Amino acid sequence: MILDRPRRYSDLLYLSSIRSGRSAVGEDEAISAGYRSEGRVRTAEFAKKAKIEPFIAHRLMDLGLAREHWESVHDRYVERNRRIFSLADRIFTEFEMAGLRDVFLYENFGALLAGGGCIGCFASGDIDLYARRADEGSISAVLAAEGFIPDKDKRIEGVRAVYQNSEFGENGFAMNIMWKPLSRAKLPFQMDLDRCLSEEGLQIIPGSSVRCPADSLLLYLCLLHISVHSYARTPSLRLYIDIRNMARKPVDWGRIAAWADHDGTAVRVSAAMTLANVLLRSALPVERISRNRRRVVGHAEHIVRSVLDERRGMLIENMGRWKVLSTELCSTDKNPLVAFFRILLPQREWIREHYAPKGTALFKGYVRHWREAVLRS
Ligand SMILES: [Zn+2]
Repeated sequence: MILDRPRRYSDLLYLSSIRSGRSAVGEDEAISAGYRSEGRVRTAEFAKKAKIEPFIAHRLMDLGLAREHWESVHDRYVERNRRIFSLADRIFTEFEMAGLRDVFLYENFGALLAGGGCIGCFASGDIDLYARRADEGSISAVLAAEGFIPDKDKRIEGVRAVYQNSEFGENGFAMNIMWKPLSRAKLPFQMDLDRCLSEEGLQIIPGSSVRCPADSLLLYLCLLHISVHSYARTPSLRLYIDIRNMARKPVDWGRIAAWADHDGTAVRVSAAMTLANVLLRSALPVERISRNRRRVVGHAEHIVRSVLDERRGMLIENMGRWKVLSTELCSTDKNPLVAFFRILLPQREWIREHYAPKGTALFKGYVRHWREAVLRS
């Protein structure tokens, strides 16, 4: 499937800024024409609102449009992100000294470092680290020494802890320490991370102490990350930046396919890869995952159709709760009816972790989960 080129200037600029590689015929001219008619101020407003300022700056700089201005915008991010890299390097050195060798950085900043992307092209206000729950005390101590204090409002017991440093940079910075790498508050999702880690392990980013999952595992996590946001929910297109960063790395597709089979995530991975191919014009080998399995191919195609706005050439906006639920039901490798019962009756441990902390009746946890999943998803 190939999308028509987006008609709106802002859509075209967005997609074009997060893609890597050469632009399509006429694309550069269309952006330049749009820029001349919309102007710098409106373009800057859009870039900020969409939270992709450095990506747009980088693209416009390459096109030679108000080069000096956009270069200075991009340079600000280069400087900021180098500070984030040094910070990550320091904390990983401290983690190592404290004997914490399981902690790893993944998703947005992890994919950028592992994929060797442009250091300026990162605009998030936080980074995600995975860690063992048992190490929380040591992790807190290391982060406290760097000025990061626990943000109790954003903590989800058993799922994640958030640490905030409001003094860092212009707008502060946060670290999300995830005890479960892809957990969501609303819909159960499980993967066998230990199996993946035992087969693939971690990599150390050259010139630092920062640990990330090795490339195949990191890409697998990034693809699943897209699926747990229903492929189109916020942060929407920005989810796909991780794939742009990782797509240039050689990965072991056979291994990713085996994990997907084992975890029952072949539909999720196939749909996320297809969408990345359509939106970013990448060439990920979807058939290595779906391998002519009718149900996987069928479900993935259905998802792709339902989250793309083909007329506009973009992802759909504002997914309603029923669409989120139906996308979730479709994202299973199994029969959707089985998936329905899995969503309704997830394992006790999951309910305990998300909705029924110690001292709360398990039944109340299930009721809270039903309320959240059905009424607020
Ligand atoms: Zn850049």
